[in-house]
Amino acid sequence: MGKTASPTYVYDFLKKLKKEGYIEEITTPKSKRSKGFKLTKKGGKFINRIFLRFDNLIEVAIQSKLKACASCGVKIYDDFHTETIGGKELVFCCGHCANAYKNSLNL
Ligand SMILES: [Zn+2]
Repeated sequence: MGKTASPTYVYDFLKKLKKEGYIEEITTPKSKRSKGFKLTKKGGKFINRIFLRFDNLIEVAIQSKLKACASCGVKIYDDFHTETIGGKELVFCCGHCANAYKNSLNL
């Protein structure tokens, strides 16, 4: 996201997560200076709720930008193939679908 987090912020955040019971400290034999954490069962449920919320937000954000191919009906987010047929600009997923559509109209 182009942002950096200071170590102070990260450790305060970890402390808060630990206090809330979302993570627990684990021993890391590699270094005495480094700390390891793992998600608790409660933390896993919390993360799943967060992911579900983001999933819903992304779906809502994308939904309005989706277009349906006039031929096969597949939903397209980007890179549409457009053709003007009978004075109307139609959206297709690809040139093959546009040709199939035109063939079905005997154009
Ligand atoms: Zn199509």
